[in-house]
Amino acid sequence: LKAEIITIGDELLIGQVVDTNSTFLATELNKLGIAVVQITSIPDIRENIMKAFDDAAGRADLVIATGGLGPTSDDITKSTLAEYFGSNMVIVPSALESIRIMLEARGVTMNERNIRQAELPDNCELLHNSAGSAQGMWFKKDGKDYISLPGVPFEMKAIFSEEMKPRFKQRFILPAIQHITILTHGVPESEMANMIHDWEESLPGNLKLAYLPSPGILRLRITGKATTDSASLSALMENEAEKLKTIIGKHIFGYNDDKLEVIIGNLLKSNNLSLSLAESCTGGLISSIITSVPGASAYYKGGIVAYSNEIKTSELNVSPYTLIMNGAVSQAVVEQMADGARTGLKSDFSVAVSGIAGPTGGTDEKPVGTTWIAIASKKRIISRTFNFGEDRGRNIQKAAIAALFMLRKEIMDCL
Ligand code: ATP
Ligand code: MG
Repeated sequence: LKAEIITIGDELLIGQVVDTNSTFLATELNKLGIAVVQITSIPDIRENIMKAFDDAAGRADLVIATGGLGPTSDDITKSTLAEYFGSNMVIVPSALESIRIMLEARGVTMNERNIRQAELPDNCELLHNSAGSAQGMWFKKDGKDYISLPGVPFEMKAIFSEEMKPRFKQRFILPAIQHITILTHGVPESEMANMIHDWEESLPGNLKLAYLPSPGILRLRITGKATTDSASLSALMENEAEKLKTIIGKHIFGYNDDKLEVIIGNLLKSNNLSLSLAESCTGGLISSIITSVPGASAYYKGGIVAYSNEIKTSELNVSPYTLIMNGAVSQAVVEQMADGARTGLKSDFSVAVSGIAGPTGGTDEKPVGTTWIAIASKKRIISRTFNFGEDRGRNIQKAAIAALFMLRKEIMDCL
């Protein structure tokens, strides 16, 4: 089954509104095993809407449009579709009643425009909107299905999950689709491709692999499709994920929706260990990531954002002499920061980061992106230098991720 999404609205084409409706619909349709073959955004113009519907029907079995169903003069989708599908417009009592109830609950009395919302094409199936007044409409023509939804994202989502999804499952023969995502760290995409080449080549035809890189993390997603038997599909996919583990096991840190900060939190909590931070260039980002996990107070003591040399000395006990001799972005300083935080904040582990995020402050010896990270534990202090690159935002983000991976490894090594 192939689908096409059409988002309608002048605001989309001037860049005022980001088209999140098609992102949502494409994600949900793919989950159901409905392939999206094209996404098109068009203005609120009659001819464009008609042409887009014609074109989409040439490519897809199911056309889903959003936007332009409101009662204002710029909303022309409903009247255009009535013309396109040769409908007569009728006031639908049930729609009128649900609009009246909705308005009443908001303390608003019905006006002419609200009544117009209940005037609907007589040759479509109505999809009830529990979150607003514009009804969804399902038309059929020459064996193809066409659905028109309101543009307001939460109304569109309500109709999708309450009205469309159950009907899709009843009316369409949908394949089983499953995903396993393997989360890896420390191997660049191209190197990974080499490492797993033979395994990838030997994958059964109904399994596909996707590489999804983000700063510091490479996700490998296996997608499997089967026409009927979803249990044997899961077994097949788990078997392939196991094979992959024997090849790249030491680079895998989690699966599916696992989060690094949760994995670290669990490691600390289950071993009754505590953490503190000394952040310079990351400015508190690591602290923010750590505390995004509910229950972080069980293991996180706190952190010091030691941005200036003065604070590095007064709060983390970094020697002024070491600062002058080595500069703030140096192995000696970052190790003293980690040690100072661990001692001062009385934790089992401490992470310190000091780097040149840019765009200024780089030298030949220490270009922008140079970052030192140290981890202090009861046993020892380890440190490493990185060069992340030019972009300030990405440097800060990559430094935080690298620090978290170093911390995870050090906790495991120290256990
Ligand atoms: P209503 O009857 O509730 O007004 P409508 O169908 O008339 O719905 P539009 O007027 O097209 O919807 O859009 C309403 C609002 O929904 C827009 O101001 C915009 O913020 C948002 N919107 C519209 N289309 C999209 C889209 N594709 N992605 C995200 N937001 C959208
Ligand atoms: Mg509108």
